[in-house]
Formats: sequence, C-alpha cells, structure tokens
Amino acid sequence: MPELPEVQTIVNDLNSAGLTGCRIIGARVFWPRTIAEPSPGAFCRRIKGKQFTAIDRRGKYLVFPVDDGATLLIHLRMSGHLNLVRTNTPRTKHEHVVIRFADGRQLRFHDPRKFGRLQLVADPAIILNRLGPEPLSSGFTASVLASRLKKRRRLLKPLLLDQTFIAGLGNIYVDEALWEARLHPCRQACGLAAPEIKALHRAIRRVLKRGLKNLGTSLGTGKANFYSVSRRRGRNSDQLNVFRRAGLACPRCQSPIERIIVGQRGTHLCTKCQRVVPGLPR
Ligand SMILES: [Zn+2]
Repeated sequence: MPELPEVQTIVNDLNSAGLTGCRIIGARVFWPRTIAEPSPGAFCRRIKGKQFTAIDRRGKYLVFPVDDGATLLIHLRMSGHLNLVRTNTPRTKHEHVVIRFADGRQLRFHDPRKFGRLQLVADPAIILNRLGPEPLSSGFTASVLASRLKKRRRLLKPLLLDQTFIAGLGNIYVDEALWEARLHPCRQACGLAAPEIKALHRAIRRVLKRGLKNLGTSLGTGKANFYSVSRRRGRNSDQLNVFRRAGLACPRCQSPIERIIVGQRGTHLCTKCQRVVPGLPR
C-alpha cells in the first residue's frame, strides 16, 4: 500500500506535470464503486468544466481542491495508481476512472485490487480532520509525540499504523522506524522512556525522508506495486533494513531478521536489537 513517501511522490509528479489549472472537459467511470461519493453520474457532471486549483496530500490522501469550492480526495488503498497519459493512449484493463483535460491529457485511476476510492466532497475537513499529525510537519515534535503516546495503552506497531494517531505511516515505514529506533513492535506506547520517544520521533522522520528522497518504495514487479504517474518505480526498496528481509542479516548486529504477526500484520524486526523488555536478554 502506498504510504506517505509514495503519495507525496505522486503529488510532486502531478505538480511537475503542470496539471493544476488545466480545464477538465469530462470524466468517465468504468467501475462505479470506485466513486465513493457522489454517484458516478453526479461525479462526472460536477467535475466537467472545472479545474484543480492545487494538488496536495494529507496523510495517505491525495487532495485536489476544485475551483468551485469542492475537493476531490483520492485514496489509493492497496493498489491504486494514477496514470497521466495522452488521450490516444489505449485504456488498460484496470483503469476504472478517466478524467479528461482540455490540453489532450487524461488522468486515469488504475487499481487492480479495486479498493481505492475517489470522492468529490464539499468539505474535506470532515474526513481529513480525523487524521493525526503530519510526521514531517514542523509542528510534529518529540514532545507532541510524547504527549500522544502517554495517553495510549496500545502496542506500538498497531498504534503507529492508526491514521488517527499519526497520518501517513503504513507497514513498511513503521517496521523500518521501529528497527531504526531499536524498539520492539510489542512495546506498550505509554511505557516508553523519554530517550526512546526521541529516538522514535527521529526514526519516523528519517525513514520517511529517505523514502521520499528515493521517490518511494516499489516492491516486486506485480501490477499492484507502487509506481508514480510516469510509471517510474521508487528506489527505496534497496534502502530497507528489515521490511520483507526475514532470514537476512540485521545490518546492525548480523542476527537474522524475523517475521512475526502483530495486530494481524506481518512485522519484521531484529529481536536482538529490538527487545520486548529493554535491558534484558531475549
Ligand atoms: Zn540487530
């Protein structure tokens, strides 16, 4: 699933492509359930003749304010992609929504698994205000993280995946951040010491910035894997220390990386570097 670095890479690419300000001359929906709201017919009617005034991101949502005051939100979920192509490019099997621009380009929502959603809403705050803080914003300090952790009696891994606790993290970057901070995914959130919280804060920002610099993480070559608007793959998979590296050596201590299940999610860690009870041998 695309996480913060992947979604931001798409936003950056759409902005570089100059999509803001292009007039939309029509839209077609080939898989109705992709449009969460309004109805597919109303979606096509309302978007026609409009233009996006900006292209932005909040958490894992792509945010497209429209010049009539509405906002298009796109959530890629498991396998959504945005293809930006010329009008004469043949439509491929999994392109469920096509937005046509006056300059001869089309933005196509491609989604083999069909979990991704588009919604055209009057007030995006109703959805976006439920999200936790942006981890790369200047307001997300170690003390903000500390005060949020202190109130939660939950295991670290599922808590960091909870978009209302912190926005934009998913399975890849949570596993990487916990390894970087030397924290076991099953530690209690409210039980971290101050230096551990500082390490976690630094690690979250470091792994996200690295992912962004490498234009996201693309795993494998299947159709569902991340690629950006120009079908360019991210380079960050070479930089991962634990994610999908079970059995390989921990880059820090050479012990084998393990895969366990935490909160029903596959979780990768080094049990030598990341202890359940800090200070004690495992
Ligand atoms: Zn290790």
